[in-house]
Amino acid sequence: MGLIGLRGEATNYTPYIDTPAGPLLRNPTEAACLSSGFGYRNASGGGRQHNGVDLANHDGGFVYAAGDGWIAFADYRGGYGNYIEIDHGHGVRTRYGHMAEFDSNLRSGVRVAAGQPLGRMGMTGNATGVHLHYEVVIDGLVVDPLHYGAPQAFQTTPVTQTYQEPVPVAPSEPSVALPPEPPPQPYPEPVRLQRPDGY
Ligand SMILES: [Zn+2]
Repeated sequence: MGLIGLRGEATNYTPYIDTPAGPLLRNPTEAACLSSGFGYRNASGGGRQHNGVDLANHDGGFVYAAGDGWIAFADYRGGYGNYIEIDHGHGVRTRYGHMAEFDSNLRSGVRVAAGQPLGRMGMTGNATGVHLHYEVVIDGLVVDPLHYGAPQAFQTTPVTQTYQEPVPVAPSEPSVALPPEPPPQPYPEPVRLQRPDGY
C-alpha cells in the first residue's frame, strides 16, 4: 500500500481497522495499490461521493474476507458487478465489488473467517480497470477503510487506536443574526527570511 501515509501516518500505520466487531483488514487483497480514495471526487469528475476505496492490481489476485462474519449478499449487483457483502455483526459490514468471480459456496448466511479467500479481483459492473471496490460500514455509516481510526498525521508518539463514536447531529438552533463580515484583510507582504550566516 504505497499510497498510505502521504503526510507521515505510515510510521503508525496498522493493517487493521479496530471496530466493534473486531479487527478488519484495511486492504483485503492479495496485492494492490490504492487507485481511488475515499470521499468527494473532484468537481471535474462529476463531484460525487466515493463510498469506498479502489484497490487496483491489473493482474487480479485474491480478495479476502476482511474479518469473521456471515455472507449477507453474494451475487451480481448492477454497477458493483459481482458483489459480496459480509455482515460482521455489531453493525459492521464490508462490501466487495467488481470481482471477476467468487467462491460459489458463498451464499447468504454462510459463515466466513477472517482472511478466507472470497474470490478474485476483476472489473465486472461499471469498472474500467481491474480493481476491488471495498467499502466498510460501521453503525450504518460508510467509513474510509484506509484511515478510519488511524492516528493523526504528524503524531510522533504511538497512540492507541480508539473506536470513534459517531458524532450526534446537534439539534438545530434558532437562527441568530450574524455579525457583519469584517472588511477583507490586505494580503501580508512576504517576509524574506535570512539565515544568521548571511545567506
Ligand atoms: Zn470504487
